[in-house]
Amino acid sequence: MKIGVLALQGDFAEHITMLRKLGVSAAEVRLPEHLDGLDGLIIPGGESTTIGKLAQDFGLFEPLRRFGRNRAIWGTCAGAIFLSKDARRPQPLLELMDITVERNAFGRQVDSFEVDLSVPALQAVDPENRPYHAVFIRAPLIESVSGDAVVLATLDDGRIVAAQQGRLLATAFHPELTDDDRFHRYFVHMAANS
Ligand code: GLN
Repeated sequence: MKIGVLALQGDFAEHITMLRKLGVSAAEVRLPEHLDGLDGLIIPGGESTTIGKLAQDFGLFEPLRRFGRNRAIWGTCAGAIFLSKDARRPQPLLELMDITVERNAFGRQVDSFEVDLSVPALQAVDPENRPYHAVFIRAPLIESVSGDAVVLATLDDGRIVAAQQGRLLATAFHPELTDDDRFHRYFVHMAANS
């Protein structure tokens, strides 16, 4: 099992640390050939417009799209935006996942916050099903899911913050900035089964 982390911009180092703590082999991805032999890829948080532009500059756009057609990809925050079909403004998107996102959905007043979420899907890796403490930083919302994408978690008011479509996973928050490794284990499990 080997998981890559797109290392163009953003908090890729934290994902790599988390994967290595789990005993999973992890590699930085900056060039198309770095995707060879990977079982899955994480696209980190950061700035989705910058990640998109750098992916174009480094010739990664089509290789990433091809990778996502038969391997697992997880986007956190900016990474979730980059995975989406629609961010309601022009910017380079992989358009792999049937989700529409709203960038910076929480505005300036609450640009960062933490909240406990119920994420039943995590029972796949931990039967206890305790609440998941999520960290949001200038986060997007997942406005809607379509096709065969499903909602994994919402805020109390029903707004969507995590979704999955087969081998594709999107979280508006940052599991790599916490000590809770359940989402990383969940993704490794997805990558192993896709
Ligand atoms: N606001 C950023 C964007 O729109 C995402 C922020 C993050 O990844 N923490 O791309």
